[in-house]
Amino acid sequence: MADNFDVVVIGAGPAGYHAAIRAAQLGMKVACIDAALGKDGKPALGGTCLRVGCIPSKALLDSSRQWHNLQHLFGEHGITAKDSKIDVGTMVGRKDKIVKQFTGGIAQLFKANKITAYYGFGTLHPGKVVKVKQHDGTEVELAGKHVILAAGSDSIELPFAKFDGKHIVDNVGALDFTEVPKRLGVIGAGVIGLELGSVWKRLGAEVTILEAMPDFLAAADAEAAKVALKEFKKQGLDIKLGAKVSKAEVRKNEVHLTYNDGKADAQLVVDKLLVAVGRKSASKGLLADGTGVKLNERGQIEVDDHCFTGVEGVWAVGDCVRGPMLAHKGFEEGIAVAELIAGLPGHVNLDTIPWVIYTEPEIAWVGKTEQQLKAEGIPFKTGSFPFAAVGRAVAMGEPAGFVKVIAHEETDRILGMHLVGVNVSELVHEGVLAMEFHGSAEDLARICHAHPTLSEAIHDAAMAVDKRAIHKAN
Ligand code: FAD
Ligand code: NAD
Repeated sequence: MADNFDVVVIGAGPAGYHAAIRAAQLGMKVACIDAALGKDGKPALGGTCLRVGCIPSKALLDSSRQWHNLQHLFGEHGITAKDSKIDVGTMVGRKDKIVKQFTGGIAQLFKANKITAYYGFGTLHPGKVVKVKQHDGTEVELAGKHVILAAGSDSIELPFAKFDGKHIVDNVGALDFTEVPKRLGVIGAGVIGLELGSVWKRLGAEVTILEAMPDFLAAADAEAAKVALKEFKKQGLDIKLGAKVSKAEVRKNEVHLTYNDGKADAQLVVDKLLVAVGRKSASKGLLADGTGVKLNERGQIEVDDHCFTGVEGVWAVGDCVRGPMLAHKGFEEGIAVAELIAGLPGHVNLDTIPWVIYTEPEIAWVGKTEQQLKAEGIPFKTGSFPFAAVGRAVAMGEPAGFVKVIAHEETDRILGMHLVGVNVSELVHEGVLAMEFHGSAEDLARICHAHPTLSEAIHDAAMAVDKRAIHKAN
């Protein structure tokens, strides 16, 4: 006999736990299934994001930043510390404590919202029946009036560089090195490569990043990518573009890489190799035969604009469907689907999802890039402003980067905002808000911004669209 629920959610990552909690808030009887185990071997809710993604990477980025500042920035402030040293065990232990606090927090939220958690692997069968193979070896059968698939994503593995958890790792391994590798190789100069490459570089590793594409961060605005690349090079991150890796062999505790730089084959020898070449939908084993749910050629679950799979009562959200693989995109989809099930309006605007790369300087954007607008033939104008001319940024010793506002040539409506600099992960939301409210560059220019704050860069950039920035020549 199946246990009956209004909503059964498979996956308790950002997309799944948001869907489960919102559905419960709306009065539905909810079950949520998750297969993941934490480092202690016990079930851990919260998905990639809380266990091995957003939160642990930011914990290590913050620890490594403290060390970097102590080595390179504190002297300027007249502060010196003698005999400073790094204890990687303590640093990683701090990260693990934060992870445990947050994964445990989801379990508490489930209890508070009367959501039944099942710990094991769930498979959707025809008729909205979900069979769960629990960690204790038993199987339970759940029936949902609605089923939400929120299975997330897994790292892509390269056939010639299989993860061994010791020398060749993905994000999971690179968040848990027990000591600073002397030489770290990274395949892929994307978000993970740059963030985790920065962590270990700041802690003292020699980091070489091999990127197959000739352009750096092709998804970002080209000008922002250029400014960020210059800063990363200054920090000593060795980023080789147009480098195609063909071989990775582990020999005598070292990884020997062969890559082609466009002219000839070259070799690189490292102690650890992080492969960060993207992620793929975790749809394997999720669907039994005959459910009617379709996968596309990339293995993603096919959905419409409202995350509906086309099978009555079956929805899919987060990394396992189209769109950016970002936790906050999953949050919004989870909430929207729960609200749609409850008969409320629910919608996610994929055009205003902010992107942030948490390097130093941070890179953030929302909306279109200049290169996208050119390709689409949309006329636009831009205004930029450097942090080097912002009093607060200079007082903080963080003058790198700039803000660029892109507006429609004729209507002045904001089409994109691109930021490189300190704390731009927070500032980008001014652009998101302005775009959601269909604001113009003039709207931003006429809004009073507190002085001295970093947000003044946005104010002056918006004024620069109309060639009337106050703090620079136009
Ligand atoms: P997931 O978080 O992957 O969760 C899916 C869950 O479902 C998992 O717990 C999995 O075990 C479980 N599951 C899968 N299949 C089944 C099944 N059949 N039965 C039972 N359980 C199942 N995004 C950001 O927005 N900001 C960041 O700073 C950021 N940093 C990141 C850093 C790293 C190193 C990585 C790897 C990712 C990062 N991301 C970041 C991306 C972010 O983690 C994902 O976009 C997000 O976790 C996706 O949420 P999700 O709920 O769709 O899937
Ligand atoms: P990514 O798509 O960001 O970057 C992968 C990079 O690897 C690309 O630049 C690609 O050109 C390159 N590449 C692909 N195949 C290659 C090969 N064979 N050799 C060399 N280079 C190759 O992927 P990622 O860094 O693995 O991250 C996965 C996803 O996780 C991201 O797309 C993002 O959605 C999410 N994430 C987000 C954040 C954040 O929001 N701050 C942080 C980490 C991860």
